Amino acid sequence: MAKILDGKLVAKEILDNLSDEILFLEKAPCLAVIIVGDDPASKIYVNLKRKKATELGFDSVVVEMPETITQNDLLAKIEELNEDKKINAILVQMPLPKHIDANAVIEKINPIKDVDCFHPYNVGRIATGNIPYIYPCTPKGIMRLLEYYDIEISGKNAVVVGRSNIVGKPMAQMLLNSNATVTICHSKTKNLSQITQKADILISAVGKANLITKDMVKEGAVVVDVGMNRTQDGKLCGDVDFWEAEQKASYITPVPGGVGPMTICSLMVNTYDLFKKQNEL
Ligand code: NAP
Repeated sequence: MAKILDGKLVAKEILDNLSDEILFLEKAPCLAVIIVGDDPASKIYVNLKRKKATELGFDSVVVEMPETITQNDLLAKIEELNEDKKINAILVQMPLPKHIDANAVIEKINPIKDVDCFHPYNVGRIATGNIPYIYPCTPKGIMRLLEYYDIEISGKNAVVVGRSNIVGKPMAQMLLNSNATVTICHSKTKNLSQITQKADILISAVGKANLITKDMVKEGAVVVDVGMNRTQDGKLCGDVDFWEAEQKASYITPVPGGVGPMTICSLMVNTYDLFKKQNEL
C-alpha cells in the first residue's frame, strides 16, 4: 500500500512558517487578483485565494471587470497595477472571455509581479535552466511535496500527462532541470498506458476521472494526481483511480488533500517572494 503525499500537512507547515515571518514585516505583501466576467468556478477560486491571503496577514485586492471589458481597458488596468508600489503580485484569473487575447494580457504583467509565472520572461528563464522571479504554483507545489518526502528525481523516468502552459509544460521542464528523463503525453499520444507503465514518477494533469488505472502504474511508482474532477454524486476526484493505483504505487497524492493545498500554498509563497524581491529583503 502506498504512502500518502500529504499536501494538506506540508502546505500547513510551510504556511505556518510563513505567517510567523509576516509578523515581523513593517508592511504586508499584497496580492491583486483580476477577474473578468461572472464564471462561478472562477469566483470560487478567487475567493479561496483572497481568504488564504487574509488568513496569512497579506493585503489583497480583487479587481472585478465585466465580461464586456475591452482588451485595451484590461491592459490599462494591468499597467496601473504594475505601477502601483503597494501591489506586489498580479494574478489574472483564467479563462478570459474569447474576445481578449490572453497572451497579450500575460505579457503586459511586469515579470517581477507575475505571481503565476505565465510571462515569457519567467517561462523562458525556466526553459533555459535559469532562475525566474518565481516558479509556477502547481509545479512548484509538487516539487516541494516530492522534496519533503525525500523523493529522488535525478535519473528517474518521469512521465507528465498533460501539456498545458499552467501545469504540464512547466512541470516537465522543472523535472528535466532536476535531471529526470522526462516524457510528456497529451490527447494525441498513442499507447498512453505503455508509456505510463515505465514511469518512476507519474504526474497526471488532464482533468479526466479514472484516466489512470492500476495497469498503467509501474510497481513502486510515485503517483501525483493534479486532476480536479467531479464524480456523478458531486465529490471531488482526480485523474487517477486512487484505490487501485495506491496498491502499486510507493507514494501517491490524494484528491482532495494532495496537489490542491500545495498550489495555493505556492501562490502565497510566491506573493511573499515577489514582495521580498521588490523590497530587496
Ligand atoms: P488543460 O489546459 O485542459 O490541459 C489538459 C491536458 O490534458 C492537455 O494537454 C490535453 O492534451 C491532455 N489530455 C486530454 N485528454 C487526454 C487523454 N485522454 N490522454 C492524455 N492527455 C490528455 O488542463 P490544465 O489546466 O492543465 O489542468 C488539468 C487538470 O488539473 C484539471 O482537472 C484542472 O482542474 C486540474 N488542476 C488542478 C490544480 C490543483 O491545484 N490541484 C491546478 C491546476 C489545474 P492536448 O494538449 O492534446 O489537448
